[in-house]
Amino acid sequence: MPHLNRTHDPSRRSWVESANTGTTDFPIQNLPFGVFSTGGGSLRVGTAIGDYILDLAAIETAGLVRPAGEATVFAADRLNPFMALPQSVWLATRARLSELLDRDNATLRDDTDLRHRALIPMADATLHLPFFVRSYTDFYASKEHATNVGSMFRDPDNALLPNWLHLPIGYNGRASTVVVSGTEIPRPHGQLKSPANDRPRFAPCEKLDIELELGAVVGTPSPMGTRVSTADAYDMIFGYVLLNDWSARDIQVWEYQPLGPFQSKAFATTISPWVVTREALEPYRVNTPERLQPLLPYLEESDPNNFDLDLEVELTAGSGAPVTITRTNYRHMYYSAAQQLAHHTSSGCAMCTGDLLGSGTISGPTKDSFGSLLELTWNGRDPLTVPGGQRVFLEDSDSVSIKGWCDGGRHRIGFGDCAGRIVS
Ligand code: CA
Repeated sequence: MPHLNRTHDPSRRSWVESANTGTTDFPIQNLPFGVFSTGGGSLRVGTAIGDYILDLAAIETAGLVRPAGEATVFAADRLNPFMALPQSVWLATRARLSELLDRDNATLRDDTDLRHRALIPMADATLHLPFFVRSYTDFYASKEHATNVGSMFRDPDNALLPNWLHLPIGYNGRASTVVVSGTEIPRPHGQLKSPANDRPRFAPCEKLDIELELGAVVGTPSPMGTRVSTADAYDMIFGYVLLNDWSARDIQVWEYQPLGPFQSKAFATTISPWVVTREALEPYRVNTPERLQPLLPYLEESDPNNFDLDLEVELTAGSGAPVTITRTNYRHMYYSAAQQLAHHTSSGCAMCTGDLLGSGTISGPTKDSFGSLLELTWNGRDPLTVPGGQRVFLEDSDSVSIKGWCDGGRHRIGFGDCAGRIVS
């Protein structure tokens, strides 16, 4: 039961012609929020429209949008002040931007001076980390991924641990090394120990991997001691980003017992620069897959809280040509972000504006839809042949790029690029 309005209307077109191509990630139905700068100038908030960024600080100063009344929220180096405003303000701002960019609306279209100041070619801008990441939590919500990992490292006949069908498994990660797309990823060092050796050695990671994920960004906080329902949790989420949870498999396998991953995940997490709002994804809501065990009441949801969101990972091995190594869809996730967030608050844990929740690796049911190299190569058994050579895990100078979009037929709601290159 998606709630649709004029901002979702597929027939709406913009006077920014590059938004109307059908192939851009940023049609007028999207309007994601990000932080940018030009020519070494100050950071500010913008929205992507076709090949351009609309400078929201400029139009806020001009009085065309005023989300916070007298105060300003867009002349800021992060989205947090805007995300902390009530959900009704997020929706009203989106509706206002959709109107201002509508082909038939003359307010900004015919104001030559303001339009020249406020509409910036994306190619001339630098995109920054869009929000201050208050805390980062990572989950493990794909049944296919958990089954693959359990089959490889434990028992194919009992791949899922007994708790998995009853709660979204997660751990508290590091917010300090969440970086924006394009940031180089230094290969981590750590303790490595092969079964053949009695003692570990300290060395550069030899099994550097990706994890294809979607990140949910919390807008509305919840106080300590408050339990949130799945329906309220859905509404607390401001938007979503693509997320690559880089993983050092050899460090992980030695360190993870009994408390879970630590340094193997702490060295880098890349997110896409545009936060696609939950409201933009509303037409693409789908149900989570069928429950294999009944959930406890606090995790039940009556609404479709997953999204029909296509995902791809492209690998560029050294100086070779880019090649798509996996294609999948977020709809396969067993637990929705709303269920993860409701579970996160179930102990009374406080959630804050700017908290980031990783979905967990998104793997589909078939071998060409797995979300990590660990699964795609079955822990090295089946190397990938790609332009530039064979790969089991990532080598220095390799680049990985995640892309994602919801297919609206005549337009698509895209996320931009979530990319990183490995350096030594
Ligand atoms: Ca992960």
